[in-house]
Amino acid sequence: MFWDKELETIDRRSLELLQLDRINAALERISRSDFYRTYYEAKHYKVKPLKSLEELQGIPFMSKEDLRQSYPMGFVVCEEKDVIRLHSSSGTTGTPTVICHTRNDIENWGSLVARCLCMVGADNSDVFQNMMSYGLFSGGLGLHYGAEKIGMMVIPVGSGNTDRQLKFMEDFQSTVVHITPSYALYLAEIIASRGIRDKLALRIGLMGAEPYSESTRKKLEESLLMGVYNSYGLSEMNGPGVAFECSEKEGMHLWEDNFFLEVIDPATGKVLPDGEEGEIVMSAFNREAMPIFRYRTRDLAFVYTDKCECGRTHRRISRIKGRTDDMLIIGGVNIFPSQIEHILMKMPEVGSNYNIVLWTKNNLDKMTVKIEVNPDLFFSDLKHLALLKEQITHKLRNEILINPVVELVEPGSLPPSEGKAKRIIDQRSKEK
Ligand code: ADP
Ligand code: ZN
Repeated sequence: MFWDKELETIDRRSLELLQLDRINAALERISRSDFYRTYYEAKHYKVKPLKSLEELQGIPFMSKEDLRQSYPMGFVVCEEKDVIRLHSSSGTTGTPTVICHTRNDIENWGSLVARCLCMVGADNSDVFQNMMSYGLFSGGLGLHYGAEKIGMMVIPVGSGNTDRQLKFMEDFQSTVVHITPSYALYLAEIIASRGIRDKLALRIGLMGAEPYSESTRKKLEESLLMGVYNSYGLSEMNGPGVAFECSEKEGMHLWEDNFFLEVIDPATGKVLPDGEEGEIVMSAFNREAMPIFRYRTRDLAFVYTDKCECGRTHRRISRIKGRTDDMLIIGGVNIFPSQIEHILMKMPEVGSNYNIVLWTKNNLDKMTVKIEVNPDLFFSDLKHLALLKEQITHKLRNEILINPVVELVEPGSLPPSEGKAKRIIDQRSKEK
């Protein structure tokens, strides 16, 4: 099933011509922006039309830090009054990275998502329970618009509250769900323990926002008795709807009429041939508000070299193997260890050492932050310590959006770091 058969099965030659046209149109808009001029001048680059797609390699890479420095609207190249929505990446320190969209951008994003949904066999007879967070996070609203476009009945329930999720699932006979794989594993256990699978109508699970393995997919498909499809996206490239699995479940088609895909060696920046694993670099060249060129995603994957049986010609990327930076993804929320450090080290009651233990309970990722208390305070009364623990939990929760377990420990009791501190102790089960 296709949403836009002509574009989804376009021959490679025509696709490349279309890319070049659209890329040059975007570069033309960028060239009129003062912010962009200064930005590229600093990188010793002058925006000019490309004669071939290979010339795109002359454009400097863009990093998350570059995006941050453009806060709030530096990279917006349309008139500000034409922006109708913004989204922001889930877990950045300090200044967030913000992506703006015009009406056409939102419309176009919805169409890309609609392609993905048709590709996995969803249609207007489906009931779609969207279990991803709504709000600044692009996961919830991103899927929502595409689902409405193909006419599914959308239940925008958002994340969390398992009892309510299950009630809606049963009462409205939801057939398609959008959920993080870790939450899905948890849900699968609850469904099994309550013995309610036969009361549900689930048939398709759209799962992404965090890495998961082929064995997790199998486990989920067997326990939930539905097809599970990998969905890849990031807010810098809209959000979900960038790359999605088709019925072959062998790699995710990346919509190359909207995103230019490169895989580079993260150490040298050299572009790698298809088949070789490296960092994904993408250009969002079909956006009016914020076209972005050569954004370094930090995500590691490879591009499949063979043609897909489904007939789509857009290349496929593999599962994301990991990230080149130290970002943690816990339950779909991105967290940088530096965010935690930032909060803790601002508090005089906190001692000099702490670490972050990641563990798994009921297939969900959990985080314990062990914190040495300032020696001056450690021997104060228990009430005082309990209050401190509460304060720290609250501050961390505000910053990282998940509830960590906070443990206050005696000064000097954590292993001292020799040389570079090893703060993250990852005890999460590898079978994920
Ligand atoms: P979100 O807020 O949607 O997580 P962000 O832009 O904050 O969006 O994070 C995007 C990152 O999430 C990606 O760069 C990638 O690391 C991770 N991610 C998203 N989808 C997947 C997926 N299917 N598999 C592995 N990692 C994913
Ligand atoms: Zn395919």
